[in-house]
Amino acid sequence: MHARDVVRAWGAILSGRPPVLSIEVTRECPLRCPGCYAYEPDHIAGHAGLRTLADYKGDSLVKRAIELVDRVRPLHVSLVGGDPLVRFREMEALVPQILARDIHVQLVTSAFRPPAPEWAAMRRMTIAVSIDGLPAEHDVRRAPATYDRILKNIAGSRVTIHSTITSQMFSRPGYLEEFVAFWSPRPEIQRIWFSLFTPQRGATDAEILTPAQRVQAIEELTELRLRYPKLDMSSRLLPEFLNPPSSPANCIFSKVTETLSADLTSRVTPCQFGGDPDCSQCGCIASMGMAAVGHYKLGGIVPLGSIFKASVKVGQLRAQRRRPHVPAIDAPAPVPAGVSNPE
Ligand code: SF4
Ligand code: SF4
Repeated sequence: MHARDVVRAWGAILSGRPPVLSIEVTRECPLRCPGCYAYEPDHIAGHAGLRTLADYKGDSLVKRAIELVDRVRPLHVSLVGGDPLVRFREMEALVPQILARDIHVQLVTSAFRPPAPEWAAMRRMTIAVSIDGLPAEHDVRRAPATYDRILKNIAGSRVTIHSTITSQMFSRPGYLEEFVAFWSPRPEIQRIWFSLFTPQRGATDAEILTPAQRVQAIEELTELRLRYPKLDMSSRLLPEFLNPPSSPANCIFSKVTETLSADLTSRVTPCQFGGDPDCSQCGCIASMGMAAVGHYKLGGIVPLGSIFKASVKVGQLRAQRRRPHVPAIDAPAPVPAGVSNPE
């Protein structure tokens, strides 16, 4: 995050607006990835799951999404799902309209179909492609969005690879380097991001990392980033994975992000994972990135995080005085999820 972004985000927070808006633009996805948090029954409080929500299509989706963006006026919009490319015609209309408002757009997809070619040249546009490890593991989990299909679909594009590290990836040494070495040389790849699998509290998923695996993952990435410049995991970010926020109340990311599901009304709380995420095992790169910003000390003395927290309270008071339908950043923070990052 650049200094300009921090200042703009701070301004939004002070006025009671969430600087980050995440929209589950569709309830549909052609994939059935094991561990996808978006389709867990507890994902959205008060509903029986994402597939049970109403969603929108065509002009109605584009118009309602723009109205939402204009109400919230965020600095960053994440388009997730389901998979946003299920609604590729709508996304082709929506993305330029959001970018024209000087808002950064991140579209998260499995790349089961090609992203619009013109997105590759658009400033402030990120296409994040979710890859669950090397082909032997990924192709089983994410068919029909297999390696072969992804490579074909992203040809000529400009994408960010995002992979979620799971316990299974430690079954053989050198897995992470093999992954980074595969994707790094490809011209379409702008950068590579990793998250760690984040379970719900009390869950026993096979994907959950042991404490030792967590430490090993961070040690390996710390070393790999020196040899693979596209591995975009900074030395400030990586240590945060070893000391995640203790609760949603202490998670800056959940405080500054508003996530709305496919009916464009239901909120996902307390963060994008929804349900009851285990913050002590959080591995979300966005949360860790915000934690790193929060630990930065202004003038070497005051942590930015304490200024953010005070500003959230100020913004909350202001938001309470405003129209009730404007999302307030301090409402119980909920949002979407996967091992498998829901697109
Ligand atoms: S992103 Fe969610 S799970 Fe992670 S620390 Fe924040 S609130 Fe907890
Ligand atoms: S992780 Fe993404 S691609 Fe997989 S089922 Fe969930 S939304 Fe679909």
